[in-house]
Amino acid sequence: MNIAFIAHDRKKDEMVNFVTAYEHVFEGHTLYSTGTTGTRIMEQTKLSIHRFMSGPLGGDQQIGALVAQNEMDLIIFLRDPLMAQPHEPDIIALLRLCDVQGIPVATNVATGELLVRALQRGDFAWRELVHKYKPGEN
Ligand code: PGA
Repeated sequence: MNIAFIAHDRKKDEMVNFVTAYEHVFEGHTLYSTGTTGTRIMEQTKLSIHRFMSGPLGGDQQIGALVAQNEMDLIIFLRDPLMAQPHEPDIIALLRLCDVQGIPVATNVATGELLVRALQRGDFAWRELVHKYKPGEN
């Protein structure tokens, strides 16, 4: 599965703790992140992550491009609900695209835990069919 991690600054410690706790689950997947989030995770784990630009510089949009192509299977996006972000339009756009494509996206750790456990159980196997039979591709 293709999985993306994004954490706003005051949520980065929480993200690192979360990914560390489930490192054994994530290590079998293809991982993406925004710039600093990925650096922080890789400093604390053995995971290899494809890092895009930092969020404010377009990283959310780069992840959004994969979502638009229906190539992202799961997003853990720990947003800071108490701090205005300069790239708020990009954040809204990413969440909108997740809704367009029906991509599971967790915006807090509680939901993240549920999704990771679902991932562990194999509940995301339907996404393999999506990758295999892309609409519009013959
Ligand atoms: P970052 O981007 O991982 O580069 O900090 C995330 C964000 O703050 O939107």
